[in-house]
Amino acid sequence: MPLKGGFARNIRRAAALGCRTVQIFAGNPTAWQLPALRQKEIDERRSLLAELDIYPLVIHAAYLVNLSSSRENFLKSSCRLMQETMERAALLGSPYVVMHVGSHGGQGFAAGMELFVSTLLRELENWPPEVTLLLENTAGAGSSLGGSFEALAYILEKLGPAAPVGVCLDTAHAWAAGYDFSSAHGARSSMEQLFKAVGREKVLALHVNNVNAPRGNHKDRHMHLREGLITPAAYAALLSYPWPEDLPVILETPEMGSDWDAVNLADLRAYADAGVVEEEERSI
Ligand SMILES: [Zn+2]
Repeated sequence: MPLKGGFARNIRRAAALGCRTVQIFAGNPTAWQLPALRQKEIDERRSLLAELDIYPLVIHAAYLVNLSSSRENFLKSSCRLMQETMERAALLGSPYVVMHVGSHGGQGFAAGMELFVSTLLRELENWPPEVTLLLENTAGAGSSLGGSFEALAYILEKLGPAAPVGVCLDTAHAWAAGYDFSSAHGARSSMEQLFKAVGREKVLALHVNNVNAPRGNHKDRHMHLREGLITPAAYAALLSYPWPEDLPVILETPEMGSDWDAVNLADLRAYADAGVVEEEERSI
């Protein structure tokens, strides 16, 4: 949901649309600081989420954050903002903070990955344990890290199995990085690659955006579900896995806050239902 209009108004609108989960930014996604929040506002937000049965609330970290920056001040600011974001999530009762893996900024992939892992290992110690960090796969453009499932797997392995870190799969980014979601078969083989790399239990959220740039060209161009190159059959296959009941499935489609939200949500539900039908037919 957009920040504009305020938390309560947007959460009420999401609930009225039939959303069961919501993703928000904790603050301006291009600012280094979160707006202050008084205890009264925190209590109000928590009780509104409970009243409207929205769970989980997912927090997306600011785009600025880069835990693999070789610029000392930039890295420091990123760590500070991540600390604040994790704490804000805990205050709001949000179990997940989604973050992009970052970019190596000229130091090379290997050095960027090492820096990312060592930064995370250090920072994790100070974060509230009830909040899990979700690493989102990226479109893999330029110096950005985390475009491949193997890169995510490498990070998770270095952090160790007990680290409160999982994965958020973004279908549009996966497509841009070259993974096939043009058919049910393509989606299944892409998902098998992901599960094999990171472990199925580590995939804790989905960003189900569609995309209208050719596969593998690293362009992060989100599109409405019915207007992109990822097909309904691929969505049905993706959604038909035995996911946990409270898996957040999130739309980051264009024109957020417009009538498109209801259209995208209805399409998503139809794809999910189609997947269930297909599974039932296969089991007969
Ligand atoms: Zn995303």
